[in-house]
Amino acid sequence: MDNMFISIVIPVYNEEQNVGILYREIVDVLGHPYDHFEIIFVNDGSTDSSFQQLMGLHRKDKRVKILNFRKNFGQSAAISAGFNFSKGEVIVTLDADLQNDPADIPQIIDKLMEGYDIVNGWRKKRKDKFFTRKIPSFLGNKLISFITKVKLHDYGCTLRGFKREVVQNLKLYGEMHRYIPAIASRIGINSIEIPVNHRERKYGHSKYGLGRTLRVILDLISIKYLLSYSHRPLQIFGSLGILMMMLGFVSGLFLIYVKYFQNQTANRPLLFFTVLAIFVGFQMITLGLLAEMLARIYHEGFNKDSYALRDRIGFSNEDIDDRP
Ligand code: UDP
Ligand code: MG
Repeated sequence: MDNMFISIVIPVYNEEQNVGILYREIVDVLGHPYDHFEIIFVNDGSTDSSFQQLMGLHRKDKRVKILNFRKNFGQSAAISAGFNFSKGEVIVTLDADLQNDPADIPQIIDKLMEGYDIVNGWRKKRKDKFFTRKIPSFLGNKLISFITKVKLHDYGCTLRGFKREVVQNLKLYGEMHRYIPAIASRIGINSIEIPVNHRERKYGHSKYGLGRTLRVILDLISIKYLLSYSHRPLQIFGSLGILMMMLGFVSGLFLIYVKYFQNQTANRPLLFFTVLAIFVGFQMITLGLLAEMLARIYHEGFNKDSYALRDRIGFSNEDIDDRP
């Protein structure tokens, strides 16, 4: 296992003062016990001199590799690109801003060698702003843990280790990188959380503020949908639709009863509700069917033929159609 190849993946967005120090720290930690590794810096459209700094590192040390984005695509996209181009049997991700401590990398690798598929860092003593970062993150973590049923203290920590199989074919965008453990849980994985050091940011600025909370929540909704219903979307849309239609029918029956048996004039708002509920319900069901078709295409591939042959006679090779 000593010969295991390690890929370090680092998203970089305007971190000119940090990348050089980070490189040194990583080499000091990894250079000794593990000798082969690569450091993949993903330059996510930096507008400062980060790219020039990284080129300087690459010129001196060929273990430093750079993926240079055309523009800013976001941290998740950067991590995803790093995964795609990495060679290691294990991959460690961390922030470029020196907030994660490379000294924690060996214990992450040890846990992966013990057999865990994902090792999550937990910033137990987080050094960030209280109101704009720690509070939303505390609530966010509780919510994510409740909805995804993957129990972690800290979903937002970039310092994590992965076995190669786990990140293969993982497509990340938006704020998805924090849901990697949840997405990966679909294929059944062994994960563990370990407390890691967290340091204050000395150079440069944090790229995020409160606005991120909204994106995190929207992504949570889509993750929940993907995890629980993407195979059978009709179940969620269809149930909602049938419920709406039933409500519509009940209120419709009530209107008829009032009008013909009690001889009172119809109740306008209730009439509106009846019509609306039936229409919305119907739409939900058709939406569910559409989603179901999309899910089929997604999972089975699109069957382009609009016909099905029973036999093929007189053609070369086989007479019986043996296509799947
Ligand atoms: N980052 C990035 N693209 C972005 C925003 C951030 O690659 O659009 C990188 C950034 O350079 C850093 C990491 O993602 O290495 C975390 O960013 P930041 O420190 O701003 O987040 P915070 O620690 O405040 O959550
Ligand atoms: Mg940071």
